[in-house]
Formats: sequence, structure tokens, C-alpha cells
Amino acid sequence: MRILIVGGGGREHALAWKCAASERVRDVIVAPGNAGTASEARVRNAAVAAEDSAALVALARTERVDLTIIGPEAPLVAGIVDAFAAAGLKCFGPRAAAARLEGSKAFSKQFLQRHRIPTAAHATFTRASFDARYVMGHRTPIVVKASGLAAGKGVIIAASAPEALAAVESMFAGEFGAAGCEVVIEEFLAGEEVSFIVMADGQHALPLATSQDHKRRDDGDRGPNTGGMGAYSPAPLVTPALHARIMREVIEPALAGLAAEGMPYTGFLYAGLMIAADGAPQVLEFNCRLGDPDTQPLLMLLQSDLPNLCAAALDGRLHEVEVQWDPRVALGVVMAAAGYPGTVTSGDAIEGLDAAARLPGKVFHGATRVDAARGRVVTSGGRVLCAVGMGDSVRAAQSQAYALTRAIHWSGAQYRHDIGHRAALRENIEAR
Ligand code: AMP
Repeated sequence: MRILIVGGGGREHALAWKCAASERVRDVIVAPGNAGTASEARVRNAAVAAEDSAALVALARTERVDLTIIGPEAPLVAGIVDAFAAAGLKCFGPRAAAARLEGSKAFSKQFLQRHRIPTAAHATFTRASFDARYVMGHRTPIVVKASGLAAGKGVIIAASAPEALAAVESMFAGEFGAAGCEVVIEEFLAGEEVSFIVMADGQHALPLATSQDHKRRDDGDRGPNTGGMGAYSPAPLVTPALHARIMREVIEPALAGLAAEGMPYTGFLYAGLMIAADGAPQVLEFNCRLGDPDTQPLLMLLQSDLPNLCAAALDGRLHEVEVQWDPRVALGVVMAAAGYPGTVTSGDAIEGLDAAARLPGKVFHGATRVDAARGRVVTSGGRVLCAVGMGDSVRAAQSQAYALTRAIHWSGAQYRHDIGHRAALRENIEAR
């Protein structure tokens, strides 16, 4: 079969690499892809933007694509799965109605409340309905969120009421464009965050791995928030009992609620959870797709055939399949360009990719492109690469991942040196 992956980051490189490893797959097309997908065996790029639904439907038709998997959220929220379905093409991902779980935090919070799924207390406001007394009447810190898609940047944890009011004002003033026309203000939750990712077929959920990521740019969880500087899987915090509780209290009621409201959910569903000190899970957010960089370690651990799993989901047969996992830990370190998450320079030549390819582990490309004139792979954005190591422990996976990062160089490359520090600490305590 032929597969089309929509997107061009590290998550899509990992999806393409995993699909190309399937015995059933003849080849994989990535639109638009990056330098990593361009050099992967049985994978090629097509110069079509991930947001151009009509051109992607046309590409899938002319290339006789059997299955399309959508990587990023923007095309899902814009209705790409509906466009593929209308054209009679198989496409794995939620339809626009269900993708609102990510596309509108206001919708998502109301949905959670309607179905009694645990989440922080909240209120939603427009400029016209905003009442500053809501902020004044609540304890700080308090969390202010732009309701729409803001590339992970529309969340402000305000330490004081004036800070919260300033955040609300800047959102209404257009800091995040239309995403900030509605603002969600919610209670601050303390605890430890985990990601819980499932595949869904409209009715059944197949839990994939758990993971934890690092959102802050600098070591020690300091510095500005980013799209994610590294991740590891599985998350040791999620014991079998907590796993069962998350399925029972979050995932199952969410899928049942979506189906009951006439928008059954098919696709990857990513629940960002806060686990309180007493072990209670609360939903911070839903994403309607896999995370980046969580996907890269997660797919390194998946031993089952991914296109088979997607096909089973599209047929509503997920309850009949079993997933095999590598029992080790996988850990990914994001290598970013200088200046990230602010403005970055592009076009810097990346050295050492061949040397890294001879080491154990795997380097997935994010923001890279081939500079044909110079015959080089160069940077083309903020999160450039994700180096994934594997091991029997978090420490062993860390050492494999960091050996990869040390082999690679470009001007101004930056990465954290402590990805997995919490899990490694837990390992040390348990070993004592
Ligand atoms: P979100 O996009 O809603 O997941 O928010 C991004 C990040 O902000 C999360 O990964 C958390 O680290 C933090 N965050 C969001 N909501 C809350 C909350 N209610 N309490 C504490 N931290 C939060």
C-alpha cells in the first residue's frame, strides 16, 4: 500500500519512518516533509503545504494513496478529514467537529464539564462579557488561555491579578490573533504532568504509550515555554492503577461523550494531564493529534505495524487488535536553533548527521531542508532535530540520546542537558 503523511516536522518524520517499516507498505509520501523524510528509505517528499486540503486530496488521488495520516492540528481543525471523506479517501484523524477539542479550549472545557471529566474550574469570556471581578475573586496563580490554536504559546500562568488582567487584555487586543477573541480563565493545578495518548476508532480506545515532555527551553525547567525540548516514554509516574483510572475517568467518558453528541472521534487523542499529589488525574488539555516531540520516542518503542493499527481504527475494529511494545525506555532530546523559541536564523549547515547515523538510536529531523545548491542539509526553523536514544533505564536512554547530540553540530545549536531528569531521579531513589 501507499501512505501519505501530512506535515513536515519531527512527528511526521517519525510517522513516515514507522510506516515505511511496515511489510504492507510499498512507499510513503510526505507533504511537505523535510530533509530527514527525503533521505529515508521508501519515503519521498511532495511539495504540497499541510494546510492545502484541496491540493492534498488531489495528490492522494493522482498518487493512488491508500491511507493518509495527518500530523499537525491546524489541518485537522480546518476539516481536512472531512475533505478526504467527501472524496472517498481513507484518512486517519478526527473530523473538524471532534477536532474542536483542541481547536477551541472554550468548547473543550464545556465538554469536559458536561461529561464530568475532571478538569480545573474555569470561566470563558469574550471582550463583551469579560468581568474583572472573576479574576479578583480567585486565588493566584491563575491561568489565562487564548481559546483558539496558538501553537502552544497562548497559555499564561499569572502570578498576580494585575498580571492576569494584563494577559487577558493582550489576548483581546490580538496578541494571538483570532485565537484570543475568547479567553478561558482557570484555576491553577499543582502536580506532575503526563501525556496519555490513545488511538480511537469512534468507539474504542487503544492506549498507546504514556510520556512526559519538557516545555521550558533551559536546564532545570527554566526559561521560556517552547513547543517541547524533549520527551521520554513511558512515564514512570503512570502505574497500572493510575493507567486504569485515566482510562475510566478521562478517556472512556470523553469518547462516549463525543459519540453521544454525534461527533465520534477517530484518530490519535492526546490528553495532557496534571496528576495531583493524591494521584488524581485532571485534564489540562486535549490535543487532536500526536505530540511533538512525544511521538519520536513513542514510535521507537512501537513494535506493531502502524498502518495496520490505523486501518483497524478506520474499520472500527480497535478492540480486536493488540499492540506490541519494546519494553525499554526511549528518550528524545530536541536540538534547536539559536534564538528559539524567538526568531531564529535558518540556512545553517548541519554537520555530523552521517556520523550520528552510525550510532545506536535515531535522529529525526524537524526543521531541516536540503540545500540543493550546496548539497547540504541545513536548518529551516526552530526545532531542528530530535535525537532519540533507547535503554533499559532512563539513564541508559539518556546516554544514547546525548551521544547522538554530541556527534551533531551547527552554528548556535542549543539543547537541554537534563531531559528525563525527574524520571532519572525516581530511578535513583528506587534503586536505593
Ligand atoms: P495547555 O496548552 O492548556 O496544555 O497549557 C500548556 C501548559 O500550561 C501545560 O502543559 C501546563 O504546563 C500549563 N498549564 C495549563 N493549564 C494549567 C493549569 N490549570 N494549572 C497549571 N498549569 C497549567
